[in-house]
Amino acid sequence: MNFEKLLSIPHKRFNPLSREWVLVSPHRTQRPWQGIVEKVPAAPAVTYDPDCYLCPGNNRANGHETPHYQQTYTFDNDFPALLPDAEPLQHDEQGLLVGQTERGICRVLCFSPRHDLTFPRMSLRELRALIDAWAAQFSALAQIPWIRYVQIFENRGELMGASNPHPHCQIWANATLPNLPAREDESLRAYRTEKHSCLLCDYLQLELQRSERIVSQNDAFAVVVPFWAVWPFETLVLSKRHIASLDQLTGEERDLLGDILRRITIRYDNLFETRFPYSMGFHQCPTDGESHEAWHLHAHYSPPLLRSATVRKFMVGYELLGSPQRDLTPEAAAARLLAASETHYLDRAGSKP
Ligand SMILES: [Zn+2]
Ligand SMILES: [Zn+2]
Ligand SMILES: [Zn+2]
Repeated sequence: MNFEKLLSIPHKRFNPLSREWVLVSPHRTQRPWQGIVEKVPAAPAVTYDPDCYLCPGNNRANGHETPHYQQTYTFDNDFPALLPDAEPLQHDEQGLLVGQTERGICRVLCFSPRHDLTFPRMSLRELRALIDAWAAQFSALAQIPWIRYVQIFENRGELMGASNPHPHCQIWANATLPNLPAREDESLRAYRTEKHSCLLCDYLQLELQRSERIVSQNDAFAVVVPFWAVWPFETLVLSKRHIASLDQLTGEERDLLGDILRRITIRYDNLFETRFPYSMGFHQCPTDGESHEAWHLHAHYSPPLLRSATVRKFMVGYELLGSPQRDLTPEAAAARLLAASETHYLDRAGSKP
Protein backbone atom coordinates (compact mmCIF):
# COMPACT_ATOMS: atom_id res chain seq x y z
CA MET A 1 0.00 0.00 0.00
CA ASN A 2 1.34 3.38 -1.00
CA PHE A 3 -0.50 5.02 1.87
CA GLU A 4 1.72 3.36 4.51
CA LYS A 5 4.80 4.64 2.65
CA LEU A 6 3.29 8.12 2.38
CA LEU A 7 2.82 8.15 6.15
CA SER A 8 6.56 8.42 6.77
CA ILE A 9 7.44 11.11 4.22
CA PRO A 10 6.25 14.66 3.48
CA HIS A 11 3.14 14.48 1.34
CA LYS A 12 -0.01 16.36 0.49
CA ARG A 13 -3.62 15.30 0.87
CA PHE A 14 -6.65 16.44 -1.12
CA ASN A 15 -9.85 17.74 0.46
CA PRO A 16 -12.64 16.76 -1.95
CA LEU A 17 -15.10 19.17 -0.29
CA SER A 18 -13.03 22.35 -0.49
CA ARG A 19 -10.86 21.00 -3.36
CA GLU A 20 -7.74 22.23 -1.58
CA TRP A 21 -4.58 20.43 -0.54
CA VAL A 22 -2.97 20.20 2.90
CA LEU A 23 0.73 19.43 3.43
CA VAL A 24 1.54 16.70 5.98
CA SER A 25 5.08 16.51 7.40
CA PRO A 26 5.05 13.48 9.72
CA HIS A 27 8.84 13.48 10.21
CA ARG A 28 8.69 16.87 11.99
CA THR A 29 6.69 15.88 15.08
CA GLN A 30 9.86 15.63 17.19
CA ARG A 31 10.76 19.27 16.46
CA PRO A 32 11.48 21.25 19.69
CA TRP A 33 8.86 23.86 20.53
CA GLN A 34 9.92 27.33 21.66
CA GLY A 35 6.80 29.25 20.75
CA ILE A 36 4.29 31.17 22.79
CA VAL A 37 2.59 29.49 25.73
CA GLU A 38 -1.09 30.41 26.01
CA LYS A 39 -2.57 31.06 29.42
CA VAL A 40 -5.27 28.58 30.42
CA PRO A 41 -8.47 30.62 30.70
CA ALA A 42 -10.09 30.09 34.09
CA ALA A 43 -13.42 28.28 33.81
CA PRO A 44 -16.33 30.33 35.13
CA ALA A 45 -17.41 28.56 38.30
CA VAL A 46 -20.60 30.55 38.82
CA THR A 47 -23.98 29.37 37.52
CA TYR A 48 -25.11 33.00 37.26
CA ASP A 49 -23.04 36.11 36.49
CA PRO A 50 -24.75 39.46 37.15
CA ASP A 51 -22.56 41.07 34.47
CA CYS A 52 -23.37 38.51 31.75
CA TYR A 53 -25.92 39.74 29.22
CA LEU A 54 -26.85 36.14 28.32
CA CYS A 55 -27.77 35.17 31.89
CA PRO A 56 -31.54 35.27 32.60
CA GLY A 57 -32.96 38.57 33.81
CA ASN A 58 -29.94 40.70 32.85
CA ASN A 59 -29.92 43.76 30.61
CA ARG A 60 -28.29 43.74 27.21
CA ALA A 61 -26.49 46.65 25.58
CA ASN A 62 -29.45 48.30 23.85
CA GLY A 63 -31.86 48.14 26.76
CA HIS A 64 -33.43 44.75 25.96
CA GLU A 65 -33.73 42.37 28.85
CA THR A 66 -32.75 38.70 28.55
CA PRO A 67 -35.86 36.94 29.93
CA HIS A 68 -35.94 34.30 32.66
CA TYR A 69 -35.64 31.43 30.17
CA GLN A 70 -35.68 27.75 31.20
CA GLN A 71 -34.01 25.82 28.35
CA THR A 72 -32.66 27.65 25.30
CA TYR A 73 -33.14 31.28 24.33
CA THR A 74 -32.81 32.79 20.86
CA PHE A 75 -32.76 36.49 20.00
CA ASP A 76 -31.70 38.77 17.16
CA ASN A 77 -28.09 39.88 17.71
CA ASP A 78 -28.00 43.38 19.22
CA PHE A 79 -24.94 44.17 17.07
CA PRO A 80 -25.64 42.17 13.89
CA ALA A 81 -23.02 41.76 11.17
CA LEU A 82 -25.81 41.70 8.57
CA LEU A 83 -29.05 43.66 8.25
CA PRO A 84 -32.32 42.30 6.82
CA ASP A 85 -33.45 45.53 5.19
CA ALA A 86 -30.21 46.90 3.71
CA GLU A 87 -30.80 48.80 0.45
CA PRO A 88 -29.95 46.67 -2.64
CA LEU A 89 -26.83 48.20 -4.25
CA GLN A 90 -24.35 46.96 -6.84
CA HIS A 91 -20.92 48.30 -7.68
CA ASP A 92 -18.61 47.19 -10.48
CA GLU A 93 -15.60 49.03 -11.94
CA GLN A 94 -13.95 47.04 -14.74
CA GLY A 95 -14.68 43.81 -12.90
CA LEU A 96 -11.95 44.78 -10.43
CA LEU A 97 -13.75 46.83 -7.80
CA VAL A 98 -16.85 44.74 -7.26
CA GLY A 99 -19.26 44.93 -4.35
CA GLN A 100 -22.91 44.40 -3.57
CA THR A 101 -25.32 44.59 -0.66
CA GLU A 102 -25.59 41.44 1.44
CA ARG A 103 -28.85 41.10 3.38
CA GLY A 104 -28.99 38.84 6.39
CA ILE A 105 -30.29 38.01 9.84
CA CYS A 106 -27.97 37.31 12.79
CA ARG A 107 -29.22 35.55 15.88
CA VAL A 108 -27.75 34.36 19.16
CA LEU A 109 -28.90 31.08 20.73
CA CYS A 110 -28.10 30.47 24.40
CA PHE A 111 -27.67 26.75 25.17
CA SER A 112 -28.85 26.96 28.76
CA PRO A 113 -29.70 29.55 31.43
CA ARG A 114 -26.65 28.27 33.34
CA HIS A 115 -23.58 30.45 32.82
CA ASP A 116 -21.16 27.59 33.53
CA LEU A 117 -22.86 24.68 31.74
CA THR A 118 -20.72 23.90 28.70
CA PHE A 119 -21.79 21.66 25.83
CA PRO A 120 -20.01 18.44 26.95
CA ARG A 121 -21.50 18.69 30.44
CA MET A 122 -25.11 19.17 29.35
CA SER A 123 -27.51 16.25 29.87
CA LEU A 124 -28.89 14.39 26.85
CA ARG A 125 -32.30 15.90 27.62
CA GLU A 126 -30.86 19.42 27.60
CA LEU A 127 -28.99 18.66 24.38
CA ARG A 128 -32.18 17.41 22.72
CA ALA A 129 -33.87 20.75 23.52
CA LEU A 130 -30.89 22.54 21.96
CA ILE A 131 -31.00 20.40 18.80
CA ASP A 132 -34.76 20.98 18.49
CA ALA A 133 -34.03 24.72 18.76
CA TRP A 134 -31.35 24.50 16.02
CA ALA A 135 -33.74 22.60 13.73
CA ALA A 136 -36.59 25.06 14.44
CA GLN A 137 -34.34 28.06 13.72
CA PHE A 138 -33.12 26.46 10.51
CA SER A 139 -36.71 25.79 9.35
CA ALA A 140 -37.98 29.24 10.28
CA LEU A 141 -35.10 31.06 8.57
CA ALA A 142 -35.22 28.75 5.53
CA GLN A 143 -38.86 29.73 5.00
CA ILE A 144 -37.98 33.41 4.54
CA PRO A 145 -38.04 33.76 0.72
CA TRP A 146 -34.83 35.78 0.32
CA ILE A 147 -32.76 33.65 2.73
CA ARG A 148 -30.61 31.20 0.75
CA TYR A 149 -28.26 29.91 3.40
CA VAL A 150 -28.35 29.35 7.19
CA GLN A 151 -25.07 29.00 9.08
CA ILE A 152 -25.17 27.73 12.68
CA PHE A 153 -21.79 28.01 14.43
CA GLU A 154 -20.22 28.08 17.89
CA ASN A 155 -16.97 29.79 18.85
CA ARG A 156 -15.85 28.25 22.10
CA GLY A 157 -13.17 29.84 24.27
CA GLU A 158 -11.16 33.03 24.33
CA LEU A 159 -8.61 31.50 21.94
CA MET A 160 -11.32 31.46 19.29
CA GLY A 161 -12.37 35.01 20.05
CA ALA A 162 -15.53 34.16 21.97
CA SER A 163 -16.47 37.39 23.73
CA ASN A 164 -18.69 35.80 26.39
CA PRO A 165 -18.08 32.46 28.19
CA HIS A 166 -21.84 31.84 28.59
CA PRO A 167 -22.45 28.81 26.29
CA HIS A 168 -24.12 30.02 23.12
CA CYS A 169 -23.92 29.82 19.36
CA GLN A 170 -24.71 32.15 16.54
CA ILE A 171 -26.96 31.72 13.54
CA TRP A 172 -26.32 33.85 10.48
CA ALA A 173 -28.76 33.57 7.60
CA ASN A 174 -28.15 35.46 4.39
CA ALA A 175 -29.21 36.09 0.83
CA THR A 176 -26.30 34.33 -0.91
CA LEU A 177 -24.17 31.25 -0.34
CA PRO A 178 -20.98 32.00 1.67
CA ASN A 179 -17.62 30.89 0.19
CA LEU A 180 -17.16 27.49 1.86
CA PRO A 181 -20.71 26.14 1.48
CA ALA A 182 -20.62 27.37 -2.14
CA ARG A 183 -17.46 25.36 -2.82
CA GLU A 184 -18.87 22.29 -1.05
CA ASP A 185 -22.08 22.69 -3.04
CA GLU A 186 -20.09 22.52 -6.30
CA SER A 187 -18.07 19.52 -5.09
CA LEU A 188 -21.12 17.56 -3.88
CA ARG A 189 -23.01 18.24 -7.12
CA ALA A 190 -20.09 17.39 -9.36
CA TYR A 191 -19.51 14.11 -7.51
CA ARG A 192 -23.18 13.17 -7.77
CA THR A 193 -23.27 13.93 -11.51
CA GLU A 194 -20.13 11.92 -12.16
CA LYS A 195 -20.66 8.93 -9.85
CA HIS A 196 -24.44 8.89 -9.26
CA SER A 197 -23.63 8.67 -5.58
CA CYS A 198 -23.00 10.95 -2.57
CA LEU A 199 -19.47 12.13 -1.84
CA LEU A 200 -19.94 12.06 1.94
CA CYS A 201 -21.90 8.75 2.02
CA ASP A 202 -19.06 7.15 0.04
CA TYR A 203 -16.40 8.83 2.18
CA LEU A 204 -18.09 7.65 5.40
CA GLN A 205 -18.24 4.07 4.11
CA LEU A 206 -14.50 4.16 3.36
CA GLU A 207 -13.70 5.55 6.81
CA LEU A 208 -15.93 2.98 8.55
CA GLN A 209 -14.21 0.15 6.62
CA ARG A 210 -10.70 1.36 7.40
CA SER A 211 -11.61 2.60 10.91
CA GLU A 212 -8.20 4.23 11.48
CA ARG A 213 -9.59 7.78 11.67
CA ILE A 214 -13.00 7.08 13.28
CA VAL A 215 -13.15 8.58 16.76
CA SER A 216 -16.70 7.82 17.85
CA GLN A 217 -19.98 6.56 16.41
CA ASN A 218 -23.55 5.62 17.26
CA ASP A 219 -26.46 4.32 15.15
CA ALA A 220 -27.03 7.63 13.38
CA PHE A 221 -23.69 9.50 13.34
CA ALA A 222 -19.93 9.02 13.10
CA VAL A 223 -17.06 11.35 14.02
CA VAL A 224 -13.90 11.11 11.96
CA VAL A 225 -10.62 13.02 11.84
CA PRO A 226 -10.85 13.67 8.10
CA PHE A 227 -8.05 12.34 5.89
CA TRP A 228 -7.47 15.95 4.82
CA ALA A 229 -7.71 17.60 8.29
CA VAL A 230 -5.93 20.95 8.58
CA TRP A 231 -6.31 21.71 12.32
CA PRO A 232 -4.42 19.30 14.63
CA PHE A 233 -7.55 17.70 16.12
CA GLU A 234 -10.07 18.71 13.47
CA THR A 235 -13.10 16.40 13.16
CA LEU A 236 -16.03 15.93 10.85
CA VAL A 237 -19.40 14.70 12.18
CA LEU A 238 -21.36 12.84 9.51
CA SER A 239 -24.95 11.60 9.56
CA LYS A 240 -25.15 7.93 8.55
CA ARG A 241 -28.39 8.61 6.69
CA HIS A 242 -28.24 10.71 3.54
CA ILE A 243 -30.11 13.83 4.65
CA ALA A 244 -29.46 17.47 3.86
CA SER A 245 -30.45 19.44 6.95
CA LEU A 246 -31.17 19.32 10.69
CA ASP A 247 -34.95 19.63 10.22
CA GLN A 248 -34.96 16.25 8.41
CA LEU A 249 -33.68 14.40 11.50
CA THR A 250 -36.14 12.06 13.22
CA GLY A 251 -36.68 12.39 16.96
CA GLU A 252 -34.39 9.45 17.62
CA GLU A 253 -31.70 10.91 15.36
CA ARG A 254 -31.90 14.20 17.26
CA ASP A 255 -31.22 12.33 20.50
CA LEU A 256 -28.31 10.57 18.82
CA LEU A 257 -26.92 13.86 17.47
CA GLY A 258 -26.84 15.17 21.06
CA ASP A 259 -25.11 11.94 22.10
CA ILE A 260 -22.42 12.10 19.40
CA LEU A 261 -21.68 15.82 19.88
CA ARG A 262 -21.40 15.28 23.62
CA ARG A 263 -19.02 12.35 23.10
CA ILE A 264 -16.66 14.27 20.84
CA THR A 265 -16.66 17.39 23.01
CA ILE A 266 -15.94 15.27 26.13
CA ARG A 267 -13.01 13.67 24.30
CA TYR A 268 -11.81 17.14 23.34
CA ASP A 269 -11.97 18.42 26.95
CA ASN A 270 -10.23 15.27 28.20
CA LEU A 271 -7.38 15.52 25.69
CA PHE A 272 -5.58 18.28 27.62
CA GLU A 273 -7.97 18.45 30.61
CA THR A 274 -9.13 21.88 29.66
CA ARG A 275 -12.19 23.58 28.21
CA PHE A 276 -11.06 22.71 24.71
CA PRO A 277 -11.52 25.74 22.45
CA TYR A 278 -12.93 25.32 18.96
CA SER A 279 -15.02 26.74 16.20
CA MET A 280 -17.72 24.33 15.13
CA GLY A 281 -20.60 24.61 12.74
CA PHE A 282 -23.07 22.71 10.59
CA HIS A 283 -23.03 22.65 6.84
CA GLN A 284 -26.51 22.10 5.45
CA CYS A 285 -28.17 22.46 2.07
CA PRO A 286 -28.92 25.94 0.69
CA THR A 287 -32.41 27.20 1.48
CA ASP A 288 -33.26 28.65 -1.93
CA GLY A 289 -36.29 26.41 -2.47
CA GLU A 290 -34.45 24.11 -4.91
CA SER A 291 -34.07 20.41 -4.20
CA HIS A 292 -30.56 19.61 -3.04
CA GLU A 293 -30.20 15.84 -3.39
CA ALA A 294 -26.41 16.07 -3.45
CA TRP A 295 -26.24 17.63 0.03
CA HIS A 296 -25.25 15.64 3.10
CA LEU A 297 -25.65 17.12 6.60
CA HIS A 298 -22.38 17.39 8.52
CA ALA A 299 -20.60 19.42 11.20
CA HIS A 300 -17.00 20.60 11.25
CA TYR A 301 -14.97 21.08 14.44
CA SER A 302 -11.83 23.22 14.01
CA PRO A 303 -9.92 23.37 17.32
CA PRO A 304 -6.63 25.31 17.47
CA LEU A 305 -4.82 23.43 20.29
CA LEU A 306 -1.79 21.37 19.29
CA ARG A 307 0.31 19.96 22.14
CA SER A 308 -1.28 21.00 25.41
CA ALA A 309 -3.83 23.36 26.91
CA THR A 310 -1.35 26.15 26.29
CA VAL A 311 0.22 25.48 22.89
CA ARG A 312 -1.84 26.27 19.82
CA LYS A 313 -1.40 26.01 16.10
CA PHE A 314 -1.11 29.20 14.09
CA MET A 315 -2.03 29.60 10.45
CA VAL A 316 0.85 31.84 9.42
CA GLY A 317 3.73 32.07 6.97
CA TYR A 318 3.53 29.29 4.40
CA GLU A 319 -0.06 28.57 5.44
CA LEU A 320 -1.18 32.13 4.73
CA LEU A 321 0.81 32.33 1.52
CA GLY A 322 0.90 28.76 0.23
CA SER A 323 -1.05 25.86 1.71
CA PRO A 324 -1.96 24.72 5.21
CA GLN A 325 0.56 22.32 6.74
CA ARG A 326 0.56 19.91 9.67
CA ASP A 327 3.12 17.70 11.40
CA LEU A 328 0.85 15.46 13.52
CA THR A 329 -0.83 13.08 11.06
CA PRO A 330 -4.64 12.83 11.06
CA GLU A 331 -4.19 9.13 11.97
CA ALA A 332 -2.12 10.04 15.05
CA ALA A 333 -4.67 12.70 16.01
CA ALA A 334 -7.50 10.16 15.72
CA ALA A 335 -5.56 7.71 17.92
CA ARG A 336 -5.07 10.42 20.58
CA LEU A 337 -8.78 11.28 20.54
CA LEU A 338 -9.73 7.60 20.60
CA ALA A 339 -7.55 7.10 23.68
CA ALA A 340 -9.29 9.97 25.49
CA SER A 341 -12.20 8.82 27.66
CA GLU A 342 -15.88 9.56 27.04
CA THR A 343 -16.31 10.36 30.74
CA HIS A 344 -15.59 14.04 31.33
CA TYR A 345 -12.52 14.62 33.49
CA LEU A 346 -14.54 16.87 35.82
CA ASP A 347 -17.06 14.06 36.36
CA ARG A 348 -14.50 11.46 37.35
CA ALA A 349 -14.40 10.29 40.95
CA GLY A 350 -12.30 12.56 43.12
CA SER A 351 -12.31 15.52 40.74
CA LYS A 352 -13.53 18.93 41.81
CA PRO A 353 -16.66 20.12 39.96
ZN1 LIG B 1 -24.15 34.11 31.61
ZN1 LIG C 1 -24.83 11.29 1.55
ZN1 LIG D 1 -18.67 21.24 5.17
